[in-house]
Amino acid sequence: MYIPNENRYRDMVYRRCGGSGVKLPVLSLGLWHNFGAITPYGTQRDLLRTAFDCGITHFDLANNYGPPYGEAERNFGRLMDEDWRPHRDELFLSTKAGYDMWDGPYGNWGSRKYLVSSIDQSLKRMRVDYVDVFYHHRPDPETPVEETMGALDYIVRSGKALYAGISNYGPAEVEAAIKELKRLGTPCLSDQPRYSMLGRHIENGLTDVLRREKTGCIVFQPLAGGMLTGKYLNGIPADSRMAVDNRFLKPDSLTEDTLRRVRALKEIADARGQKLHHLALQWVLRDEVITSALIGASRPEQILDNVQILSMPPLSGEELRRIDEILA
Ligand code: NDP
Repeated sequence: MYIPNENRYRDMVYRRCGGSGVKLPVLSLGLWHNFGAITPYGTQRDLLRTAFDCGITHFDLANNYGPPYGEAERNFGRLMDEDWRPHRDELFLSTKAGYDMWDGPYGNWGSRKYLVSSIDQSLKRMRVDYVDVFYHHRPDPETPVEETMGALDYIVRSGKALYAGISNYGPAEVEAAIKELKRLGTPCLSDQPRYSMLGRHIENGLTDVLRREKTGCIVFQPLAGGMLTGKYLNGIPADSRMAVDNRFLKPDSLTEDTLRRVRALKEIADARGQKLHHLALQWVLRDEVITSALIGASRPEQILDNVQILSMPPLSGEELRRIDEILA
């Protein structure tokens, strides 16, 4: 039987998610990679236990995380029964729908038909009565925002999710979605965009909207899938994501320009006596508009390593300036 670390809430930092009543850990764990059929079940169990033992209360899923699609939710559901049911009220669980999930016209994008069917499937796979937040995973240019947000509102009102969220929306789309959800009386808890030292697009207007609208911002891929650990500076290690499961992280993302930046950033981390991924996580979290950084991990030691940032000194103005120069 799993007995969580009794000191799990001692060191973690929790930030308020926008203007809501909810606080989230500054590091959350995503189940996109390493929770499908190609990862040993025991590793998955240890990843979740290690995260929770460190105070990471937020686990992020989506309908199509795997492989195959649905498998991460199914594995989570088994673990829910084995480990997590006694701790359900200490967990903040999310899932999403918006990308391709099943064949035919109703298993993709943003219709009410897709979202409502998908949340019902997700709850069954995850073996829970509700999730804490249900996201529309990406904007749908063809479905009216009123229909998609209406579906999120319905899902919250029917108790299948406690909060609604959106992901991968641009600034104008975020603004329209927030406005519509507000009108419906189900405020948008959080946006979930990509953000890292190698991808700063959210600084071009999106964070301004979220700050103004008091909406949370839970950023994904703060380590650029592992590129901001420095592990790819001398080739592709055999046990890395790019070697083991490169469905999304392709060797051609290791351009000369990216490697040059990563090398220069690593020099700053070295001078601070820390690893590059510590610097990358601290940098993403430097502005309180960011509620949480959603990390992935292939082994529990990485989670233990990453939470070390909680006791590291903040970045100085001079360090931030040099990082801006490198990333310019
Ligand atoms: P990261 O950028 O955090 O990359 C995680 C990977 O980096 C790990 O799997 C591991 O890869 C490596 N790593 C992490 N910590 C360390 C460490 N301390 N030392 C060495 N290597 C380390 O994020 P992910 O790409 O995993 O994405 C995180 C989550 O974001 C997803 O699980 C998902 O929940 C969410 N997400 C949401 C999306 C959306 O559209 N809304 C899209 C993508 C992600 P390795 O295998 O090399 O060890």
